[in-house]
Amino acid sequence: MKAYVLHEINDIRLEEVDMPVASKEEVIVKVENVGICGSDIPRIYTTGAHVKPLIPGHEFAGTVYKCSDENRNLLGKKVGVFPLIPCKECPDCKSKNFETCQNYNYLGSRCNGGFAEYVKVPVWNLIELPENVTFEQAACMEPMSVAVHAIRRITDINNSDFEKRICVEGLGTIGLFVCMFLKYFGFKNVYAICNKEYQKEQFLKLFQRKERCLVRKKGNISKDNTKDITDNDGNTYESIKEVKEFEEGFDFFFECVGRNETLNDAITMSKSLGKIVVVGNPYSDMELPKDIYWRILRKQLTVTGTWNSSFTKEENDDWHVVLKALESGKIEPQQFISHRFKLEDLETGLLIMRDKRSDYTKIMIG
Ligand SMILES: [Zn+2]
Ligand SMILES: [Zn+2]
Repeated sequence: MKAYVLHEINDIRLEEVDMPVASKEEVIVKVENVGICGSDIPRIYTTGAHVKPLIPGHEFAGTVYKCSDENRNLLGKKVGVFPLIPCKECPDCKSKNFETCQNYNYLGSRCNGGFAEYVKVPVWNLIELPENVTFEQAACMEPMSVAVHAIRRITDINNSDFEKRICVEGLGTIGLFVCMFLKYFGFKNVYAICNKEYQKEQFLKLFQRKERCLVRKKGNISKDNTKDITDNDGNTYESIKEVKEFEEGFDFFFECVGRNETLNDAITMSKSLGKIVVVGNPYSDMELPKDIYWRILRKQLTVTGTWNSSFTKEENDDWHVVLKALESGKIEPQQFISHRFKLEDLETGLLIMRDKRSDYTKIMIG
């Protein structure tokens, strides 16, 4: 089969490799669509993966192509894939918090993933897809579940005050999916801060409220956030607090960037008793100035983190919440797919993301 094999950092090649061989508890999935994740870029080009050689790719969906006799009911089924393979023995796994498993395996980072024609997947990790859910949509289930997980860390999706003021800073794929699901769950007052006009256009696909999305000019992030905020009319501001629509602050804040400046925004812009969830992978060491740190105490903020997504195979886990949303037709993750490439051209997609050759959101292969 054809696969992209990462041999060393910055050495990924499209090659002919042997088909994977599945055990009784595994199936072979024919990959129909696989998305490129932001985390694939450092994995491939700068920091490397946990094992080598490795076939990356953890956001995929496909058809069950081969399975053992015990699982023959799965043959030909359309499936999405939870890429984290838990140990099922550690305390976190015992309490069904598989996403925080202390000894996990991971398709596409610790074992072979979906940048290939076929991939070996444990039966436990499959989620069966209804007829009306496309493979492309299902290949977005992983980042969508990550977004839903972040939302559920600080809100109750079934019983929240949907008038609460919410800010999402960072409109990459996860930030946009957070916005998409906030809308789906019924939150009305969603604001965003991003650093590209293109991202603002994406936000406007969900909420036609230009005044609610600020663009922080790229390359102009100063440590103290001065003069880098531009509103819809092109006015610049010293800080977000000066922008009329934003000055009241927020009850819930999604920090989807992972920089000191954006974490500072979250703390500064949160109302008293506000809740912050840090979603973005950090670019570097994170440091808080003393006066910002004080605000966590004085405003009695809740600052929490999020990791991955819940997959307990129950109706209420993040993946089933996402699947239900897809099945209902009320969300359209495909509207955020900016590029589509065949497997043979996957590298072009990687380079667009690595070198920022053009604006992009989700790059989809298949
Ligand atoms: Zn990912
Ligand atoms: Zn475990």
